[in-house]
Amino acid sequence: MASPTLLVTNVAGEFALLSPPDHAGLIAGTLPEDHPRYFDLLARNFIVRPERGGTGLERAVARTRKAFALEGPSLHIFVVTLRCDHACGYCQVSRAALDAKGYDMSWEHANAALDRVFESPAHALTIEFQGGEPALRFDLVRQIVLEAEARNDLHGRQLRFSMVSTLHHLGDEELAFCRDHEIHISTSIDGPAALHDRQRPNPTRDSWTRTIAGLERARSILGYQGVAAMPTLTKAALANPREVIDTYRDLGFGSIFLRPISPYGFARKTRRAIGYEMSDFVSFYAEALAYLLELNRQGETMVETYASILLRHILSPFHTGYVDLRSPAGAGLGVLVYNYDGQVYPADEARMAAETGDTRFALGRVDDTLEALLTSPAMRWLAQGSIAETLPGCRDCAFVPFCGADPVYHAAAQGDPIGDRATSEFCAKHMGLFKILFGHIAEGDPETMRTFTAWALNRPREDIVEAGFVEQ
Ligand code: SF4
Repeated sequence: MASPTLLVTNVAGEFALLSPPDHAGLIAGTLPEDHPRYFDLLARNFIVRPERGGTGLERAVARTRKAFALEGPSLHIFVVTLRCDHACGYCQVSRAALDAKGYDMSWEHANAALDRVFESPAHALTIEFQGGEPALRFDLVRQIVLEAEARNDLHGRQLRFSMVSTLHHLGDEELAFCRDHEIHISTSIDGPAALHDRQRPNPTRDSWTRTIAGLERARSILGYQGVAAMPTLTKAALANPREVIDTYRDLGFGSIFLRPISPYGFARKTRRAIGYEMSDFVSFYAEALAYLLELNRQGETMVETYASILLRHILSPFHTGYVDLRSPAGAGLGVLVYNYDGQVYPADEARMAAETGDTRFALGRVDDTLEALLTSPAMRWLAQGSIAETLPGCRDCAFVPFCGADPVYHAAAQGDPIGDRATSEFCAKHMGLFKILFGHIAEGDPETMRTFTAWALNRPREDIVEAGFVEQ
C-alpha cells in the first residue's frame, strides 16, 4: 500500500505535500540542509532560520491575500422586485406572484441605496439586479443604471452592472440597453430540457424553450461573453453529472458553476423532494470534475467555476475576491443586499432567512448611513463567526488559508454565527472539495496540473507551457 501524503499549510497560504518521514522531520526541526525538500520548504516559510531574520515577504503575501478586508462593500445587490412568473421549488420564499402588489422597490429606496453604494470606499463597485425577476421592472433597472453612471462621473469608481434574469422578459430594446451600459447577464439553466422544465415551471410550461430563445437573442446583441448561466443542482440533477455538463457544452458555454442547492428558500416538504446530503453533492462533484478534466485533456476548454476560485486561493498568492468565501466573511463587509421593501441585509441568504421569519440579520433601513449599517447589532453579532482562523474546527484545519467563514449560514442553520463545523454543510462541502482538489494535486498528473493552473490564473490552457506548483 502506498504511504500517505500529508498536506501542510501556513498562514501565508503556502502548502506542501510531504511523506510521513519528511513531515516528522519538519515538525522536529531536524531536516538537514542537503535534504531535497529543504530549500523548497524554506522558500515557502515552513522552515525559518532565525539568523536570516524575517524577510517581510510572508507579511506581504498575507496582506495581498487579505487585501479585500480593507476595501469596503463592493457588491451591492438590488432586489428591484420579488415578483416572478416562475414557481421553482427551490425558490418558494424568494418570489411573489406576477400580479402581486407591494413587492416592487420604490425609486426613493433605490435612490437611497445608491447613496450607500457610493458611501462605500471600494474602488470597484458592482451593482447586481436580482429578484424575483428584475426584468419585470426594467424601467427601474434603467433608472438606477443611469443615475449610478451620472453619480460616478464625480466618484470615478470602476463601476460594473450585472443582472440575474430568466431572459424571458428581455426584448431587443432592453438587451441593447444592457449592451450599451455593459450589464452582464446571468441566467439559470438547470440541465436538459425535461429537467429544466420540471424544476422551473412557468405558466405556459415552456420555460426551456423561452430561456433558449432568450439566450440566442441576448447572445446576438451582447455577444457570447455577455451572458453566463448556472444550474441549480437538485437531487434529480445529481444522478447524471455528464448530462448537466453536456447540456452546457451543447449550448456553447465554456464554463459551468457547480453549486449545491441552497438550504434556504424552500419549505421542509420540498427539501425532502429535491434536497440531498452534502456527501451526495461531493460525490457528484468528484465525478463531474473528472469528466471536465478529461474534456480539457482532449483540448476542449470547459472550466468549473468554483474549482477555479478554490484553485486561485491554493495555487496563487491572490484572493479571488469572491464574497462567499472570505475570512473575514463577506457578509456586510463585502456585500450588501437592498431588499424591495427598503430593508438592508448582509447577504442574499440573510434576506431569504428573513422571508421565513428569521429577522435577526436585518442591518437596518436603506436610508441609514453605511456606517450605521456596518456597526449595527446584527453586524456585531455576525462578527463572532466572521474570522475563520479563530473559529473552533477551522483554526486547526489545514484548508483554512484557502477557505472562508459563513456566519449567515451557521446562524440560519445552526442557531449562532460561530456554528459547529462537525455538522456544518458549509464545512462538509469545502472539506470535500479541498480533498478532491488536493488529491489531484498530490497525484501531480501534468495535464491535470496544466488545466488547474489555467483555471487558477484565468488563462487559456494553451498559455500554460508547464504547470508550476507541482510537488514531487
Ligand atoms: S474546510 Fe471546514 S474546518 Fe476547514 S476551514 Fe473550511 S469550514 Fe473550516
